[in-house]
Amino acid sequence: MTTTETATTTVGHWINGKHVASASGNTAPVYDPALGVATKQVALANDDEIQAAIGSATAAFPEWSDLSLAKRQAVMFSFREILNRDKAELAEIITSEHGKVIDDALGEIARGQEVVELATNIPSLMKGEFSDQVSTGIDVYSIRQPLGVVGIISPFNFPAMVPLWFLPIAIAAGNTVVLKPSEKDPSAAMWLAEKFQEAGLPDGVFNVLNGDKAAVDGLLTSPDVQSISFVGSTPIAQYVYETGTKHGKRVQALGGAKNHMLVLPDADLDLVADNAINAGFGSAGERCMAISVVVVVEPIADELIAKIAERAATLRIGDGRRGCDMGPLVTEQHRDKVASYIEVAEQDGAVIVVDGRTVRPDGDENGFWLGPTLIDRVPTTSRVYTDEVFGPLLAVVRVESYAEGLALINASPYGNGTAIFTNDGGAARRFQRDVQVGMIGINVPIPVPVAYYSFGGWKNSLFGDHKAYGADGVSFFTRQKAITSRWADPSERGGPSHGGINLGFPSNN
Ligand code: NAD
Repeated sequence: MTTTETATTTVGHWINGKHVASASGNTAPVYDPALGVATKQVALANDDEIQAAIGSATAAFPEWSDLSLAKRQAVMFSFREILNRDKAELAEIITSEHGKVIDDALGEIARGQEVVELATNIPSLMKGEFSDQVSTGIDVYSIRQPLGVVGIISPFNFPAMVPLWFLPIAIAAGNTVVLKPSEKDPSAAMWLAEKFQEAGLPDGVFNVLNGDKAAVDGLLTSPDVQSISFVGSTPIAQYVYETGTKHGKRVQALGGAKNHMLVLPDADLDLVADNAINAGFGSAGERCMAISVVVVVEPIADELIAKIAERAATLRIGDGRRGCDMGPLVTEQHRDKVASYIEVAEQDGAVIVVDGRTVRPDGDENGFWLGPTLIDRVPTTSRVYTDEVFGPLLAVVRVESYAEGLALINASPYGNGTAIFTNDGGAARRFQRDVQVGMIGINVPIPVPVAYYSFGGWKNSLFGDHKAYGADGVSFFTRQKAITSRWADPSERGGPSHGGINLGFPSNN
């Protein structure tokens, strides 16, 4: 059966509280990665559709931003209940377009739900400051206000969680949103929009614009869009940051990663092996916080590699709906690209310990399969080491000392996440101070901060001054005003506190 014969449904846009069919007729296929066929098409917005989505958000802003904090908070409480109630439905959608196993899809929803729960606290998060009597009869205070229309552009690998890193705080703070999801798995965003409507969100506050580069460029250059929150690969993040800021927008652009796990000789090697498997092969390695390089301080490498290989052999690879441990990759093209790195490793003299190309999946033979792959003695000059591979490939680099391992991590152009495994608290403390990375795990392999901290890396993993969610998220989606105010005491009207004429620059007294 060909792609076009199966792909009958077209995912359109969600504009002003309604499904809008594609007017342009431009579409791209959406695959079920475990079946290896396109099951849907997705609309690729043209200029009219881009303007319609931005126009809908612009029209909704005055009323939504004027609504009381209590009423905006009530929508978040209601949405939280609906998300929790219907999360199994959303997990099915994620698995059918991304390929990750159902449990993993539920995990990403749970991490997104955390940010919704944080946003239910928006009255506290938006509180200003107040200083009484900064000068005689004068008070100073600050207030936070929403920006206006905000754009969110998300990647394929977390079709629910990444939008939920931004949406709840943006909306609860009084902004209106245009979300441009990945064209590879657009349906989770449409589902979120429907459920926000059920939660009582007024039409136009949250719009979903499906599309490709043209839709992204439409958001980046529109004078009606105040900010851009982007998550994706580093070259696109850099482009988005540069283009968005050139057009006067506030931009946070989270980019790619190459996360190292540093293993010291005193570490618990069974704990390390379990975590290397979980963080290397969970979601088929398609996580920006996946561990892709294990840096082992000798003499423990042989023992550790044997433990990791033994565990990799026990993993069940297959259709995410069948209770497997690891699903397929997102597209055939991406699977082939990741698999080609195994050939690169061979050519560069690395040792293939576990070869994912020989996998026997529990799933359709046309699925985009690649099994867990473990590669030892990877030269740090190899593209397997330098590129972000974004698949189930775990590279091992052997070093002779902590200092050599640290230098390797700090030389990386990326600085998203890293982890140290050791039983030496002093070494761990030194690492947390020395390493040039934004998120650090100590005997924890995927240190994604909880919602009340902020998520973001250093160097080429984040362009802009604000991380996602937490305090940075509130700061990103609001603008502060400082007010200096004088109300004369009624009993002193016309008296000495009036101050009289004084042309000097105001100072405290
Ligand atoms: P991607 O960069 O290909 O796409 C991200 C978004 O940009 C999508 O919405 C896509 O439609 C759009 N886009 C693609 N090409 C574009 C172009 N030329 N101009 C403008 N927009 C364009 O990323 P992806 O493959 O969807 O996602 C995987 C990448 O995202 C990995 O590099 C991963 O590390 C990164 N990621 C980073 C984080 C983080 O927090 N740092 C989180 C998740 C994913």
